[in-house]
Amino acid sequence: MLEANLSWVRMAFFFGGLAFFLLLELILPYRRPSVSKLKRWLINLGITTFNTLILRLVLGSAIVATAAYVTQQKMGVLNLVAMPYWLKLLATLVFMDFMLYIWHLLNHEVPFFWRFHRVHHTDLNMDVSTATRFHLGELAISAGIKIGLVFFLGADLLGVTIFETALVLAAQFHHSSLKVPWWFERLFWLLFVPPSMHRIHHSVKIPERNSNYGTIFSLWDRLLGTMVSRVEQGRIIIGVGGHFDQSELGLHRLLVMPFAPPVP
Ligand SMILES: [Zn+2]
Repeated sequence: MLEANLSWVRMAFFFGGLAFFLLLELILPYRRPSVSKLKRWLINLGITTFNTLILRLVLGSAIVATAAYVTQQKMGVLNLVAMPYWLKLLATLVFMDFMLYIWHLLNHEVPFFWRFHRVHHTDLNMDVSTATRFHLGELAISAGIKIGLVFFLGADLLGVTIFETALVLAAQFHHSSLKVPWWFERLFWLLFVPPSMHRIHHSVKIPERNSNYGTIFSLWDRLLGTMVSRVEQGRIIIGVGGHFDQSELGLHRLLVMPFAPPVP
């Protein structure tokens, strides 16, 4: 029962966030789209729908089942020492986000993983729909890693749900094409990832692309020296070199992209 309720909560946040940030983008756009927003939305939501259908069929609710199992068995490092429940939830959020940072870095540094991850980076404009534009292969490997982490941590269902919901909202916000007041961006950079920080990550320039890997917290980039901030935002070109033609970036092209010859 709890599992069903939490999965509704997650879905509500996903669609709520999508509608909320789309509305804000239409009112306060960061810059005019260079390719049709409607066309990109059809592709990005098309790939999202495809992924959701397949992942639900194949993996089902494996992560949820794992969390329920480890909680019942009191497994994992979080169950080794007594600690308040809120601290367990916070530790789950912080540790999972750090692991995601490492995984994101590997997606850029390991050529095999980059084949899948470049599908996300080939979006020619960045907006809230980019947040779910991922190849199924990348999501399937991520799901496997998350299951392993839930086992290792002994993360419970609420902890995993808080992490997944925060992840979705953080990704939707920092991908959105929003004119955010500069003072808010500056404050947000201190602890979290605002759109300007992630925009640098989507730059065609490889040294800029291989930086700013954080999803929820900006802390990991700051601590591990992968943060790049001094970039003139107005001149950032979004995309991947060699993938500049929108007509070559249709849904079917994105699905076979990991198996096509690599482009820098
Ligand atoms: Zn990336």
